[in-house]
Amino acid sequence: MCGAKVLHSGRLKARPSSECFDAKVDMRWTGTGELVIVGGPSDTPVDGCTEHRESTSQRRLASAQGSVLAGGVNLAPYPSSNAALSVFSETSTLTCPEKTLADLIVANDRTGIRDWAAPKTIAEINAEVAALDAAQRDQLASVILDSNADAASRDLLLRTMRAVLAKPDLGFYAEIWSYTYIEMVEGGFFGTCGHLFLSPTAWPGLSDHDARWVLIHESFHSFNCLNGGPIGSLNEGSAIWIAKSSFPEGVDPAETWAEATYGTKLYYRDIAGNPDFPLEAPAAPSGKLIEVYQRLSALDPSQLPWNSTERLVTCFDRYWAGLDRNVDFFAVWLPSVAQATAQMLADPDCRPV
Ligand SMILES: [Zn+2]
Repeated sequence: MCGAKVLHSGRLKARPSSECFDAKVDMRWTGTGELVIVGGPSDTPVDGCTEHRESTSQRRLASAQGSVLAGGVNLAPYPSSNAALSVFSETSTLTCPEKTLADLIVANDRTGIRDWAAPKTIAEINAEVAALDAAQRDQLASVILDSNADAASRDLLLRTMRAVLAKPDLGFYAEIWSYTYIEMVEGGFFGTCGHLFLSPTAWPGLSDHDARWVLIHESFHSFNCLNGGPIGSLNEGSAIWIAKSSFPEGVDPAETWAEATYGTKLYYRDIAGNPDFPLEAPAAPSGKLIEVYQRLSALDPSQLPWNSTERLVTCFDRYWAGLDRNVDFFAVWLPSVAQATAQMLADPDCRPV
């Protein structure tokens, strides 16, 4: 016991709480009064959230008999004159109403948008972005863009992002841009986990059409990286295919997901001199990745077997390995692609599992 010391008289004298003594307690408690239970639920507003408490207090009059021995003195020689047994318990939970996407846009809350999107499916994000009005969606682009771009590059970025977000199936790019930094730095166009690198001299000169392809493509590398996406040929092929299938103006019918993926494999073999560029299905895809890839597959006239490494490789070996990629793209490559794609489509082993 602390905060007192025992006097020889058997009384206690108050002392600093750091001062303690040992006591031997041997007490028997007996409930005597009626058990009284009080408490219940209560709700209190806290910062726009609600704190819900459930409390219970149980109490009954009681008597205590026994001894409290300290320093050889019994501090409790008589039966208790006034005692009660009581138990108190309380639980509390805080519930906050989920902020809507429109709220987060008004609050200019980029991190809030990232947290809002994280637990949602692609379909849910797309639906909520599509439900915004045009002014809100335009503002959404301004809120999520994180970049060191100068005014001209920024204008093109925002215009491009708005065109992408206006597509009902591409609303989920709002999530990609909420976690991706767009760095303007010399060295072409490059996208990786949470980070894009765009040349500040090349970017502002792009047409709106080409800017959309570049931004959709490079941003998709960020998505792939953070969603267990594929490496190598299919990483590249999926980024090409989502850009072409989303904005198909000027796309030749032979430009499919297979052309983008196998064409990349052959580009590395025939032009870059690397015959071992990976050709693999995604090893550990997130639910979001599968959702997006299923849609890409539904749009894909070539029915690329994107979800099986075995099929990807088998069909490449059967119909594509004999082609030469180091030729004129439109005059020679695409006609040979059309032929390989037709053969592949007739082969039941060459479609997604
Ligand atoms: Zn790429």
